[in-house]
Amino acid sequence: MLLNRSERKFPRVIVIGGGFGGIEVARRLKDKEVEVLLIDRNNFHTFQPLLYQVATGTLASDSIAFPLRKMFKSQSNFRFRMAEVLRIDKDAKVVHTSVGEFDYDYLVVASGATSNFFGNANVEKYSLGMKSIQEAQNIRSYVLQNLEEAVLRKNADDRERFMNFVVVGGGPTGVELSGAIAEIQLHMLKKDYPELSKHEMNVYLVEGLGEVLAALSDKSSRDAKRYLEELGVKVILNTVVKDYDGLTVTLSNGDQIPTKTVIWGAGVKGQFPEGINPELLQRGNRIKTNGQCQIIDMPGVYAIGDVAATVTEKTPNGLPGVAPVAQQQGKYVADHILSILKNENNTEDFKYFDKGSMATVGRNRAVVDMGKFHLKGFIAWCTWMFVHLLSIAGFRNQLVTFINWTVKFFTKNSGIRLIIHKYHRPDPLMKTTEETEQV
Ligand SMILES: Cc1cc2nc3c(=O)[nH]c(=O)nc-3n(C[C@H](O)[C@H](O)[C@H](O)COP(=O)(O)OP(=O)(O)OC[C@H]3O[C@@H](n4cnc5c(N)ncnc54)[C@H](O)[C@@H]3O)c2cc1C
Repeated sequence: MLLNRSERKFPRVIVIGGGFGGIEVARRLKDKEVEVLLIDRNNFHTFQPLLYQVATGTLASDSIAFPLRKMFKSQSNFRFRMAEVLRIDKDAKVVHTSVGEFDYDYLVVASGATSNFFGNANVEKYSLGMKSIQEAQNIRSYVLQNLEEAVLRKNADDRERFMNFVVVGGGPTGVELSGAIAEIQLHMLKKDYPELSKHEMNVYLVEGLGEVLAALSDKSSRDAKRYLEELGVKVILNTVVKDYDGLTVTLSNGDQIPTKTVIWGAGVKGQFPEGINPELLQRGNRIKTNGQCQIIDMPGVYAIGDVAATVTEKTPNGLPGVAPVAQQQGKYVADHILSILKNENNTEDFKYFDKGSMATVGRNRAVVDMGKFHLKGFIAWCTWMFVHLLSIAGFRNQLVTFINWTVKFFTKNSGIRLIIHKYHRPDPLMKTTEETEQV
């Protein structure tokens, strides 16, 4: 049982979210004179950078997820509750959750981000996001379901919609995902679906800016585009998705692509419980904090990672939504809380140390920017692999991932092409599909 405020020996730090930021806060507070209560709607931590490999069948979902209770099994001041945090009451210093109320002395909001469809209801209804394991599994099922549907159709025109795959957003998520789908087309389609031709399958990557990987160096952007095109991805730049009715996607240049599959990687927005002053919300629905990651009008409350816009003179637009920012802020905030408890006046702002950026394109090519250094091709891919392997939580997950990658490298084949749960998307064509099957 958790004790209430008057009965507790040590102050309680509640952390909302067991993502990259939240787990760093909890880890850093190990063996300190605080009680840590981590609350997450899932009982596991998700390694989001490899979601695209779950979506394309290279890795099973349990390779990139790690149980939070197991992660902290040797931390005696740690408690976990699986719950949805619904509301923060800053005056009472209480969080209201789906399993009850918990009072806090310090609160860290590390609830991350969700897909941002920029108010386009049709796109939101019909396209697939890739922000969670569940969504990645949906993509895996749905891509395969559509190939199964294509097999049922006798002529190429009828198959077209099922064999066009549109990925929206040319950031690392879109680049990595479209490259991996193109590899399915190149190496798997003929073996698994002898009825289908790889020439009938198309993978599109639609990006609003004039380049992919715009946050990386020009060299990386150019190399990544070339790699994608060599894999057969049709890269469409300076173009945004205007509408999608579940059957045909309409682009801002007037083009239309018949497709059942649109995967959305074009934007994220902060997600958080009620109780945050709407005036603090910045671009991308991120909560404005001061340089010490504190939410300005909420004493004892911090926001870190993707949900936060840490606004300082040097970072007027906040920091990038990447794992290292969340991790470094997690450590900083834990230290900040401890310094307050020791009555030290820590006024030093959080400083982000940018170690570099990378993205992989297909099975053995990647781009890496580290300061002024730029790596590409196989050596960059080895670097990407090494960094990601070391970052995955748990030795078992690291080993399984390494084995999967090795097998895929030599066989060009990824084995987890399973439709465990059929994905049912609101789909006007579904009726026609069922009718077609009955004929
Ligand atoms: C597909 C994809 C690929 C990416 N690739 C990279 C990459 O290659 N490199 C990189 O650095 N970054 C990458 N990122 C970004 C990186 O994953 C994020 O920056 C990072 O996860 C942010 O960490 P966080 O702790 O802020 O939030 P998250 O890791 O998103 O964790 C938030 C947690 O909060 C929980 N939660 C949210 N709301 C509630 C609530 N109300 N109640 C209870 N629990 C809640 C969620 O379940 C989740 O566990 C990628 C992201 C995606 C989606």
